[in-house]
Amino acid sequence: MKAPLYEYRNRKKKLRLRITMLVLVTLIPTFLTGFIVGKSYASDEKNNKHDVIEKEKPSISQDTEQTDVEEESLEHSGSEASNSAKKDSTEEEEKTEKPAEADTEEVSLGKVVYLTFDDGPSVLTDQFLDVLQEQGVKATFFMQGTNLKKEHLQESVKRATIEGHYIGGHSMTHEFNTLYKDFRFVPEMNETLALIHEITGESPNLVRPPYGSAPGLKGEQIRNQIVEAGIKVWDWTIDSNDWKLKDNPALIVENIKSGTNSDKEVVLMHEKAQTLAALPGIIEFYKEQGYTFVVYDEDNHFYLNFQNDSRM
Ligand SMILES: [Zn+2]
Repeated sequence: MKAPLYEYRNRKKKLRLRITMLVLVTLIPTFLTGFIVGKSYASDEKNNKHDVIEKEKPSISQDTEQTDVEEESLEHSGSEASNSAKKDSTEEEEKTEKPAEADTEEVSLGKVVYLTFDDGPSVLTDQFLDVLQEQGVKATFFMQGTNLKKEHLQESVKRATIEGHYIGGHSMTHEFNTLYKDFRFVPEMNETLALIHEITGESPNLVRPPYGSAPGLKGEQIRNQIVEAGIKVWDWTIDSNDWKLKDNPALIVENIKSGTNSDKEVVLMHEKAQTLAALPGIIEFYKEQGYTFVVYDEDNHFYLNFQNDSRM
């Protein structure tokens, strides 16, 4: 009885083995095919992703990307696996870089600098405009009546307006006693602003007081006159001391660098030869520091005077 049972079991075992073999023989190729197809699909998807990211990327990172490609082609190193690993790590870097870039942009838009030039127009105005144009920078000029009356300088004043700079007033006489002791400040500023209107067609209302508003505009009476006339008065946050630094443009740049400590700076300069020489260095400094160059905008006026009078 034992023998047939054993034989039966043996036969059953053989049959099971055969079935297992058959299953394996059928399944292995299927599995392999599936794996290969799956893998190539996955790598396609990776490439597509890479394309999309490349398209979305801002042009700033183009240089970095080119370097990566160059490195890859230089290496000519082995397996697909190492290449795709490299691609993966590039993708990760790109993803993490993006928000950081956006943050930097927001910060840089927050820092603004107003370059201001007093006492023009002058024989140098056109050269100032040339530098500003080359650098893509807009500035604010405070011009003086006696100079505005000189016909040969009026083309420069028109040009400044056309090129997007702001022209404000800086009095007719520039004389301390006349302006502040004889109370000629408002009439002189009105006359200067009218001259600017005649030349440019613009109707500015911002002026810079010669020698600054301190101590000249200390008295409330004169400030009331200014407010009634609808005139706005700007002093500055940084004095470059450029007017007394003849032949020393490097020190003008240094003064401005050491004076810069806020997200909003208004730099006092004059139409002087040494200032013209210093201007590219000044612009370079603020660009490096992430400042945006802005021009005075009457619609976004903020008060900036040593009398802390918020009305003007
Ligand atoms: Zn002046």
